[in-house]
Amino acid sequence: MMEIPSYFRLVNRDWTVLYESEARIRELSEEDEETHGLCDPVKAVIYLARELDQYPLAYKRHCFWHEFVHAIKFANGEDNHDEEVVDRVAGMIQQAVESFN
Ligand SMILES: [Zn+2]
Repeated sequence: MMEIPSYFRLVNRDWTVLYESEARIRELSEEDEETHGLCDPVKAVIYLARELDQYPLAYKRHCFWHEFVHAIKFANGEDNHDEEVVDRVAGMIQQAVESFN
């Protein structure tokens, strides 16, 4: 079982994973959609909602991978991300990583 990291390094940048309330993440995202995560490429921070503790762990991990894919895309110089693609790729990474064990 993979633990969600607190830090990771991506293209020579140190990213931090922080936990905030869903309401705070919504505020930070400046979008009016319900979200359990946020990727901030300026601060190099992935925010995950504290409320995710009430969901199955697999879903929490999926949310991490989803934001992680956003981080990769930002690191790759892409600023507009297709959410469907991001989510599908996140699912694939999760499946592969969980098959390592
Ligand atoms: Zn997204």
